[in-house]
Amino acid sequence: MLLNQKYEIFPTEEQKEIVERWLHYCRQLYNSVLLDKQRKYKQKKENYNRYDMQKQLTIDKQGYPFLKEIPSQPLQEVFLRVTKAFDNYFRKDASYPKLKKHKEYNSLTFPQFGLNNKGYRYAMSFSANGKLYNTKLGEVDILLHRPLKGRIKQLIIKRQGHRWYAIFCVERQAVPSSIDLNNAVGIDVGLNQYAVLSNGAVFENPRFLRKQEKQLKKVQRALSKKKKGSANYAKQAQRVRQHYEKVANQRRDFLHKLSFNLSKDYSVIAVENLNIRNMVKNRKLSKSISDAGWGMFRKMLAYKCEKQGGALVKVEPTYTTQDCSACGERVKKSLSIRTHICIKCGTVLDRDHNASLNILEKGLKQLSTNK
Ligand SMILES: [Zn+2]
Repeated sequence: MLLNQKYEIFPTEEQKEIVERWLHYCRQLYNSVLLDKQRKYKQKKENYNRYDMQKQLTIDKQGYPFLKEIPSQPLQEVFLRVTKAFDNYFRKDASYPKLKKHKEYNSLTFPQFGLNNKGYRYAMSFSANGKLYNTKLGEVDILLHRPLKGRIKQLIIKRQGHRWYAIFCVERQAVPSSIDLNNAVGIDVGLNQYAVLSNGAVFENPRFLRKQEKQLKKVQRALSKKKKGSANYAKQAQRVRQHYEKVANQRRDFLHKLSFNLSKDYSVIAVENLNIRNMVKNRKLSKSISDAGWGMFRKMLAYKCEKQGGALVKVEPTYTTQDCSACGERVKKSLSIRTHICIKCGTVLDRDHNASLNILEKGLKQLSTNK
């Protein structure tokens, strides 16, 4: 099982400057690779893969010696980010990849950490003093407020506001003993009801939220009727922004409460890795809120489960709605069909309830193979 463990680090002013510069170069590389990829695709429908990107980088390094200043690991990892951004777009999980601004590019990934097989240091490792170490940075103070357990797979250095963090992705062999597999639940996140649990419990979208979202649509419609560039347009745009903010905040509150209660009640929570179904279904502004909401909900669940000593398992969403949770028969159904009816074994269930049962089963299977 892979887990993220986050620790605050305290770079000196000098070290901050260096890391900021690395971030800056990585962002520039990200944007230039993105533009290259877009251009290639538009011109010849040609694929521009990580191998091509690497070739280009080798050429660039000769023309722009500053690129040699930064460890090659995070630099190369940029290619993975661009590739992933496009993959997500093609899978309809994300919008078309855009250029990143300074404030949107906050992290460097070091896909390897510590010592290699021959005992040589990777770009990032621990020093003998137990500090974070890189040849160009020297030692960076880190607050290990809790033990770092497991094999370190990668390290992310992240800027958040004025603070800096080291996020270790560690692999743990066994499921922690605190986890009770009998107290497990699967969750299907939907549109009509916010969440349906494998035990049949349903969490509705709060009414005030639905009301606010309706109003948001109204103020938006009003905006589309105003003349662009006019004073009235600006005023209405401001109204839309404020409303959007309000709805987003309320949704966040709702998700905080829901995820907290779930993490408290269950030892194991299984969710889908990505909920593509929802993303295709709803539209525009309300879509962007609920999409962001889903990602946010999963993140909240992840850290709250960890805090409570439980586990969040993410499962692949393939066939979770189609398959019969009782007998495994594949029962094809369109989006509009809300009930799962299995001809083979006679099971009749709410569509989302059936899905959440499948999610639970997949999650438990995943956990037991890790055990
Ligand atoms: Zn069945």
